[in-house]
Amino acid sequence: MRSDHEAASPATDDTPEQAVFRARVRAWFDENATPRADDDLWEVTGFVSPDRAGTEFEEGRRWQRRLHEAGWAGIAWPAEYGGGGGEPWMARIVNEVARDYRESSGFIASTIAMLGPTLLRHGTEEQKRHFLPRLLSAEYTFCQLFSEPGAGSDLAALATRAVRDGDEFVVDGQKVWNSAAQFCDWGFLLVRTNPDVPKHRGITFLLVDMSTPGIEVRPLVQMTGSAHFNEVFLSGVRIPVANVVGEIDGGWGPARTVLANESAFIGRGTRPTSTRLVELARLHRRERDPLVRAGIVDLWTRERLQTLMGETIQNAVRAGKPPPIDGALIKLYAAESKRRAGDLAVGIMGAAATAGDTDPARWARAELYGRFSISIGGGTNEVQRNNLAERALGLPREPRVDKDIPWREVPRS
Ligand SMILES: Cc1cc2nc3c(=O)[nH]c(=O)nc-3n(C[C@H](O)[C@H](O)[C@H](O)COP(=O)(O)OP(=O)(O)OC[C@H]3O[C@@H](n4cnc5c(N)ncnc54)[C@H](O)[C@@H]3O)c2cc1C
Repeated sequence: MRSDHEAASPATDDTPEQAVFRARVRAWFDENATPRADDDLWEVTGFVSPDRAGTEFEEGRRWQRRLHEAGWAGIAWPAEYGGGGGEPWMARIVNEVARDYRESSGFIASTIAMLGPTLLRHGTEEQKRHFLPRLLSAEYTFCQLFSEPGAGSDLAALATRAVRDGDEFVVDGQKVWNSAAQFCDWGFLLVRTNPDVPKHRGITFLLVDMSTPGIEVRPLVQMTGSAHFNEVFLSGVRIPVANVVGEIDGGWGPARTVLANESAFIGRGTRPTSTRLVELARLHRRERDPLVRAGIVDLWTRERLQTLMGETIQNAVRAGKPPPIDGALIKLYAAESKRRAGDLAVGIMGAAATAGDTDPARWARAELYGRFSISIGGGTNEVQRNNLAERALGLPREPRVDKDIPWREVPRS
């Protein structure tokens, strides 16, 4: 099996132009970033240490700024909005090369991937010119303010209320599970502006400055000890009407664009887990165990298929075409791979995985716990299966008893 470094940069069939571009990107990264080393194998990312979470976020912001200054951030976005005006394949190559180096924009990359295409498609000219360059340079970092205690899978049931007062909306309500909201400068927020129409038709999509009076962010501590996400309380928060993305009461369209890009981003190829499992099997002398070998090859195959599917979706999204593979499929696939990887890591290590104090043990535990993050965030496995059943297989839709009645009349707990 190939080394991690090789596997992270899959063999490509670059055209001569692409090969020249790849060499240029690699030369910049060689000069400005730190190549991944063997001891990075057990690195665990994503606000793992509560003490370092804020620093990690700011490091991501600084790195994103450097990528932007060098012209690699948003290389396929229009130049008039701070992008590079390049081809979709350029963004793919930058991502592939970047995976071989330690520095990363971390969480910030996820909201750029979600909000960027949404503003490009639904934003006003003024919003695009103001927000897109600042999004790319991480001058503004954004959190997603969608979920509520009574609206997760059924997001359109959301109850955070916005009432118009002249040129502003006054917002009251509560959001929850908002990743990195404790660090972000801005949020993209879904609110109910019309309770008298069916739930999907009375929602508005707003951009909100997180320092606006009336916003309180309370971190939620998870079983890992870290606080990846937050509760966000909004009390009398005044947001300019100019910050509406899309139409007033027409926020479901931009919200769907965010969700489609979120699924595609979560399912995008990451550093391979199979290489770590090979090393783990060697460390624990299990590399000749047929079940361990079969499990690793299964994961290795899944990783390659996942990378290919992710690229196919990303290329289509960047080219403004509908994704040829349903984002639900790739996210579900990634969630299942994560589950298999965690089970295999624990199977190889035995009790050392849960009780050990070594780097491999910490990594195995993160794999084990991480399954819940990917199988719930961005839409649960069950909801993704429903989506596939309806969209891909054309099976009868789930009964939707509240689809045509005003939101105000829908029973709520
Ligand atoms: C790591 C992580 C990060 C997140 N980040 C953010 C963020 O930044 N911003 C944000 O707004 N939200 C965020 N979320 C929230 C996430 O979007 C919701 O948790 C998710 O949509 C599920 O909603 P819920 O938790 O309310 O569960 P519920 O919708 O209450 O679901 C409970 C259970 O019922 C099942 N279920 C529900 N409906 C159906 C159905 N129709 N058919 C079959 N089963 C069903 C679900 O699959 C689940 O098992 C994040 C979540 C996680 C785990």
